[in-house]
Amino acid sequence: MDERLKKEWESCVKCGLCRSVCPVFKELRQEPFVARGHISLLSEFIKGNFDFDSEKSKDYLYKCLLCTTCVEACPNDSGTDTIVEIARRRIVELHGLPLYKKVMAKILLNRNLMDLSALSANLLSVFLFNKNTNTSRQSNSLKIKLPFVDKDRLLPPLAPKTFYHKYESYGKNAKISIFPGCLINYTYVKIGDAFINILHKLNISYLIEKKASCCGAPIYFSGNFDDAKILAKRNIDLFYNQDIDYLVVLEPTCASMMKFDYPKLFMYFDDEEYIKKATEFAEKIIDPVKYLYDNTDIKDRLKDTGLTVTYHDPCHLKRTQKVKNEPRDLIKHAAKFKEMKEADRCCGNGGTFSIDYRDLSLKIASRKINNILNSKAQVLVTGCSACIMQLSEALHIAGHDEIKTLHTLELIDKSLGG
Ligand code: SF4
Ligand code: SF4
Repeated sequence: MDERLKKEWESCVKCGLCRSVCPVFKELRQEPFVARGHISLLSEFIKGNFDFDSEKSKDYLYKCLLCTTCVEACPNDSGTDTIVEIARRRIVELHGLPLYKKVMAKILLNRNLMDLSALSANLLSVFLFNKNTNTSRQSNSLKIKLPFVDKDRLLPPLAPKTFYHKYESYGKNAKISIFPGCLINYTYVKIGDAFINILHKLNISYLIEKKASCCGAPIYFSGNFDDAKILAKRNIDLFYNQDIDYLVVLEPTCASMMKFDYPKLFMYFDDEEYIKKATEFAEKIIDPVKYLYDNTDIKDRLKDTGLTVTYHDPCHLKRTQKVKNEPRDLIKHAAKFKEMKEADRCCGNGGTFSIDYRDLSLKIASRKINNILNSKAQVLVTGCSACIMQLSEALHIAGHDEIKTLHTLELIDKSLGG
């Protein structure tokens, strides 16, 4: 193990602050399900006193959203998310991956296979999905029972045309490249449309690199480091020599993965060449709202949409990328803003967490829904499509389809005239 990673958690002083902020611990109230407990388990593992060989110990480490709330709260900068990632890698070594995560890795490693799977699901959507389920964002329940996905789960429809099929690079001397992320590429293309519209209104050239791979986050967070490394190398090799100022990554989780987890991933493999490349590559990665805020006159162009909105901070935007004030400032120029309580509390999605632990995931979301309702806003705005998927479903379950969900980019686009 790389010493740079090991010392991250040796600093834990058992203060328990992580217990007071962890959304999972708030529901389960048991030490093994919080950062301090994870650290104790990993310390015992390193000393050779414990291994993650029981089903129960698997549960301790996978029932974590990797929301990084504990990382932010920890006074000693113990790498509490790193601990979970390392332990999950050990669990995969011992137990292998569940079947659906094996299939997911195979698909995510191959863009052609991803495109084909998405196209097939789109063509078969009349057989797979109930149409027009009434939600605050269009999403549909399944008609049939699929393995690993609850039948009543609401899923966004697959777009007939992906972001990569829809758009080409535009303009001359482009200094930004756009990385949409799989969720926006295949389902929430409208969020990508909004960003493209905004760039055209601002007359900004851009590159779209169609050979980009999945960032690897769902694979890496599952503990499958070997396949995540393949994807990370592909993306670094593709973008490393591009003459751009920024790689604008539309999904906060993808941005966070590429900016912070790629360098860490190569440390696990002691790969000095790619630690260096990933660290340099990381400097160019930026969130689209932060990009617009820092580099354009977008704020002066916004017009009041007449909407009353509240804002949810995506974990991988606020906590890892430190983007908190920029979206709020822009929203205040485009709408009447109502700050909700605990705006930065995790929505409970956590990627595959919402598949593996659906009841717990929805329980965590329900607390967020109460805060949204108490804000009296008519629209929920956020900067992450996974949060939109989670919270629009939770709003539907709570009987509040009247509250619409928008991405910050969609609100900005609307404010500029649509
Ligand atoms: S907040 Fe940090 S130092 Fe305190 S118990 Fe949790 S991990 Fe350890
Ligand atoms: S990452 Fe989030 S869910 Fe996991 S232990 Fe930390 S606060 Fe809890």
